[in-house]
Amino acid sequence: MFDKFREECGVVGIHGYPEASNLAYLGLHALQHRGQESAGIATSDGRSISCHKSMGLVADIFTPEVVGRLNGYMAIGHTRYSTAGDTVLENAQPLYVMCNKGPLAVAHNGNITNAAEIRRDLERDGSIFQATSDTEVILHLMAHSRERNLAAALREALLQLEGAFSLVLLARDRMIVARDPHGFRPMAMGLMELSGGRKCYCFASETCAFDLIGAVYMNDVEPGEMVIVDADGITRQRYTVPREPAHCVFEHVYFSRPDSTVFGRSVQLSREMMGRLLALEHPADADVVVPVPDSGVSAAIGFADEAGIPYRMGLIRNHYVGRTFIEPSQAIRDFGVKLKLNPVRPLLEGKRVVLVDDSIVRGTTSRKIVRMVRSAGAREVHLRISCPPTVSPCYYGVDTPRKRELIGANYSVEEIKKFVEADSLGYLSMSALRKAVDDDDQVSHCYACYTGDYPSGLVNIEELSAPKVRRY
Ligand code: AMP
Repeated sequence: MFDKFREECGVVGIHGYPEASNLAYLGLHALQHRGQESAGIATSDGRSISCHKSMGLVADIFTPEVVGRLNGYMAIGHTRYSTAGDTVLENAQPLYVMCNKGPLAVAHNGNITNAAEIRRDLERDGSIFQATSDTEVILHLMAHSRERNLAAALREALLQLEGAFSLVLLARDRMIVARDPHGFRPMAMGLMELSGGRKCYCFASETCAFDLIGAVYMNDVEPGEMVIVDADGITRQRYTVPREPAHCVFEHVYFSRPDSTVFGRSVQLSREMMGRLLALEHPADADVVVPVPDSGVSAAIGFADEAGIPYRMGLIRNHYVGRTFIEPSQAIRDFGVKLKLNPVRPLLEGKRVVLVDDSIVRGTTSRKIVRMVRSAGAREVHLRISCPPTVSPCYYGVDTPRKRELIGANYSVEEIKKFVEADSLGYLSMSALRKAVDDDDQVSHCYACYTGDYPSGLVNIEELSAPKVRRY
């Protein structure tokens, strides 16, 4: 019923800016890497909510005319990507409804792992769903709540959810931002001081959105916290006790932009440290370090610096092509690597190359890139990966294929080395990854894609016979 765990998203929220849609648009523009399939913005002027969403890229959807039609001093925005089969406009967000709590719009990042059960119960009671997105259950649960106060109704809804959610909810006269008690997905909070001492509060999946609009990053919405912003200002409250923290480590490995601060730590610093530790754990006798752009760039810089080997841009990326990984069919994906990357022969010819990338998922892209580097004249290709083997799918909002397609789940490192046709292959260890994200003292991240140990109970999800408890 739900395909939501194969979905990646970025969200923004703006409260207290005269033309909030402009800032939401810019924020989404900065978060475009988090989803390129659809985008939407909902605004409120205190009386009514306006919403516009469409399939496509933020800059194509939100022409000045469209942004100009979205009135109000509050705005929420969403950008989304999901794999084939679930690409309909009905699933684009924000979801906007009229219900017994008034007009409501919601934008959500993450995956609610018990959404199917909740939906089944709601449908048994007569609820009618419009789409297959798990986000819809939040609005239904709120509508069913007997609480008259909006925050209390949202709290009642959130307490029934399992899994990952960082969400922004827009009502006529207020905005509520909430994060699940594990804090799987990020949600940063920022501030803009306006003339006359007025304050504009900003929320975003990543702080790079604040940099663009000129907001200052304050801190994160805490796991289990709800932030209410209305005419009286800001109220922060715990709607539940936080659980074992489980921030998604893949945000630092791959997903977030390196210029963002995520979970309070610079992504660029994490990635450079991953590269440094990778060079110490898996040194290579080589002439050049070459990143797979863009995902391998920061780690390659760290690797080259630590190893004392020159860093060279031996592969050039065409920036006008979407992520090859996200193409729905294998045929397009195969062609996509060439569309996206081209080797610089004079830098590679006759060289022993360390090729650095952030991860191997299916292995098919990596093999093509290794072949590409070799066909450009490289004498040796030593592949280095800045995280451990990906052995388990993510059910919390990162698009990973099923276990049977994950090469790391089914083959040894030696077998993967042969498959990708590298001369050597080295993955970053778990302990080094934890060190790189400053997590070596206490565990505050989710490493389920590398361990198979899921921090929250998973219900009725393919490939899992029973919920597992995280162990270290
Ligand atoms: P492959 O060799 O086919 O497993 O593809 C590996 C490439 O996919 C690496 O360059 C990664 O940066 C990239 N990648 C890993 N995870 C994701 C993801 N969730 N979305 C898009 N690209 C990804």
